[in-house]
Amino acid sequence: MGNDSDITNLPHVPGHELSGIVQETGKSVTRWKSGDRITVPFVSRCGTCPECISGNHQISDHQFQPGFSNWGSFAQYVSIKYADTNLICLPEEVDFVTAASLGCRFETSFRAVAAQGAVKPVQWVAVYGCGGVGLSAIMIAHAFAVRVIAVDINEKALDLTKSIGANFTINAKEYTDVVEVIFDITGRGAHLSMDALGSVTACSNSILCLRKQGRHVQVGLLAGDNFLP
Ligand SMILES: [Zn+2]
Repeated sequence: MGNDSDITNLPHVPGHELSGIVQETGKSVTRWKSGDRITVPFVSRCGTCPECISGNHQISDHQFQPGFSNWGSFAQYVSIKYADTNLICLPEEVDFVTAASLGCRFETSFRAVAAQGAVKPVQWVAVYGCGGVGLSAIMIAHAFAVRVIAVDINEKALDLTKSIGANFTINAKEYTDVVEVIFDITGRGAHLSMDALGSVTACSNSILCLRKQGRHVQVGLLAGDNFLP
């Protein structure tokens, strides 16, 4: 079972996108029983602090991330605190592999596109970075009937975006000014743009390609050399 050591302290067990079957429950758990099929959000919460009560569990006073702040799911078992609050029931028709993608990349992208981005049909959305979270954002944006511009330097990733809803793709290696290309496509800039990569270049281009009153959502973590103090 996991403990509270974080990623900076070895030994550590990674694994933050997980789903599975409840094996055992703690004494205070009332909503779940052995055999239930579940997944969990990447940023798990306490459920009782003011942030949790306001629906912002990602900034819970007692947040934790299996695989980062706690031992994760690259193991036979993983323990999840505050299980009544954090476990999410899986319908039979959702398989475990699909379910494992929901708690981090899809949940994050949904909030970025639908809640923070508040997109409306036919608006323009630019997504910088077409990895797990960027591809999820494109699928979600497509579901909201917005027009998507995908930006990456990997042609294979860009090809994939076309099959999941991107209307335009930009290989950033082929242009000196990605922002100009986005203005050429959209006329007045993007309504919503997001850095789904976490780089200074993607972040600044994402802000610069916005139209007046457009909105930038920073999804990628600006860490290491890309840390902005
Ligand atoms: Zn909380």
